[in-house]
Amino acid sequence: MSKIDDLARKTVFSISPYVPGKPIEEVQREYGIDDVIKLASNENPLGPSPLAVEAMRNSISNVNIYPDGNCFYLKRDLAASLGCRADQLIVGNGSDELLKLIAETFLDPGDEIIFAQPTFSEYEFVSRVMDAVPVAVPVDSSFTHDLQAMAGRISGRTKIVFICNPNNPTGNIITGDALKDFLDKIPEHVIVVVDEAYREYATDPAYPDSLAHVREGRRLISLRTFAKIYGLAGLRIGYGISSPEIISLINRVKEPFNVNCLAQVAARAALQDVEHLRRSRELVASGKSFLYGHFDRLGLKYVPTQANFIFVDIGVDSRSAFRSLITEGVIVRTGDIFGYPNYIRVTIGTPEQNLRFVQALQKVLGSA
Ligand SMILES: *Cc1c(COP(=O)(O)O)cnc(C)c1O
Repeated sequence: MSKIDDLARKTVFSISPYVPGKPIEEVQREYGIDDVIKLASNENPLGPSPLAVEAMRNSISNVNIYPDGNCFYLKRDLAASLGCRADQLIVGNGSDELLKLIAETFLDPGDEIIFAQPTFSEYEFVSRVMDAVPVAVPVDSSFTHDLQAMAGRISGRTKIVFICNPNNPTGNIITGDALKDFLDKIPEHVIVVVDEAYREYATDPAYPDSLAHVREGRRLISLRTFAKIYGLAGLRIGYGISSPEIISLINRVKEPFNVNCLAQVAARAALQDVEHLRRSRELVASGKSFLYGHFDRLGLKYVPTQANFIFVDIGVDSRSAFRSLITEGVIVRTGDIFGYPNYIRVTIGTPEQNLRFVQALQKVLGSA
């Protein structure tokens, strides 16, 4: 009998499974610590919008019915708030699903995709699943996407360029001018996917209006999510905005009921909750200056962030620091998975969580 491995597609062996942030329950189980905080997955520590929770409560008894596969009402709300048409929108089971659908729509084996190094690992993942060739282009010395170098790597086989803005894990942005220059330089056969999972946290006025480029007819897909500032990570819902032509192509490969009904009603309610959004932004702004202050005091270098997490050089091996922080009940992300073994990525939490993280870090670095 043949080995089961021989039956799998070859590309499956080139894929390393996603390494998720360590779940709180796992740490509680393994270390016997009750009070564990997770600052590893850039979730919103304020929780979901109360309006979203209420909307889900009111819908819970309808879960025997299949959801609206077209997300009609959510698209209508989004279209109104974004100033686009409903047929320019696609909603996914998280923006992760949209990344995969984009890959399935556009990538033939051997096509190339370009992304920054370090960046969100899903771009490489979805391209490998399709047997496409990932091309990683290192960020520049300020940890910013090197768009010049990325443009320089475009070939006749390049299909997609992924730009993560703000970038995960570095937290910084490319500016509107930089994006425009890049778009002006690249050939027509290249689709640009701008992943804006953290856009609502960006305060820099130079942050691009990616939809303006969609409107002017660029082959650009802007991806957004309800998982981060909207606090709905567990529901899995995100959306993409592009031309009706691109959206209709992606719709061809979409599963009919990809977005569950509770996610749809929660997202609609969350969109209305400006107060929740404002509080979430404020929490991050004040947490950011608190953490900057302590990093400065401890002599730790960090990348100034436009998101709700900070990439910080702790000067020692992050995996061993991670293990020590865990024993203090604090979960962060190690930088080794991004190619920066002495860095950690920490999500900005509540004031109590930030303080607890700083105290634990100080203890671990022996600088208390
Ligand atoms: C968290 C994250 C996402 C995933 O969002 P989901 O909507 O939860 O799938 C996408 N892109 C980046 C850069 C992220 O950090």
